[in-house]
Amino acid sequence: MARDVLVVEDEPDIRRLVVLHLERDGFRCRTATNGPDALREAKTAVPDLVVLDLMLPELDGLEVCRRLRSDTSTAAVPIIMLTAKSDEVDRVVGLEVGADDYVGKPFSPKELVARVRAVLRRSRPHHAPRVLSAGPVALDPARHAVTLHGRAVELTPKEFDLLQALLEAAGRVLSREHLLNRVWGYARADEIESRTVDVHVRRLRAKLGDAGSRIATVKTVGYRLEADRA
Ligand code: CA
Repeated sequence: MARDVLVVEDEPDIRRLVVLHLERDGFRCRTATNGPDALREAKTAVPDLVVLDLMLPELDGLEVCRRLRSDTSTAAVPIIMLTAKSDEVDRVVGLEVGADDYVGKPFSPKELVARVRAVLRRSRPHHAPRVLSAGPVALDPARHAVTLHGRAVELTPKEFDLLQALLEAAGRVLSREHLLNRVWGYARADEIESRTVDVHVRRLRAKLGDAGSRIATVKTVGYRLEADRA
């Protein structure tokens, strides 16, 4: 079944270009040209993914993203933001807004399509291995669920993938580069992208409450998490 992508972009040329490349790659696209329309579209039929421009008339992309995240029906929908402002990246992928990924403008349509595929791949794993755990934290890949002391924890797809990568590594140190490759699908990391990992780890720790400190920072390298033995 074709995946349904909602493309939110007010500039007609960019919107057409994005839709053209996504459709060529087998996706089904719907479009919105402003924030309120985007929210309406997303509620009418929940898309598999949203490509969301940051600069939009009426309601900007940050606010649209926040509202999608705070609505239970759309909270888990992966969001890729388009942004020309590099100084917004921390907010976009951080606690405040919670997008799953971002693509800087100007971008190559091919790169955007690759990111869309990567985000969708991560949000729906093909195989279903055993439940992974670290003390009070349990992650069930089959159900795509995380619990803390038996209670459900709401994670974004990125946070989920990050936690799964750390649990699977079973105490091995994972570098930021490794995590960027595994979770974000980047071939190489620059400074901004490395900070993306830190921002997500911070957010993940906060959501794991008293167990958050189990994710240890390994100075200048990356992160490790001592998982329970199978
Ligand atoms: Ca725009």
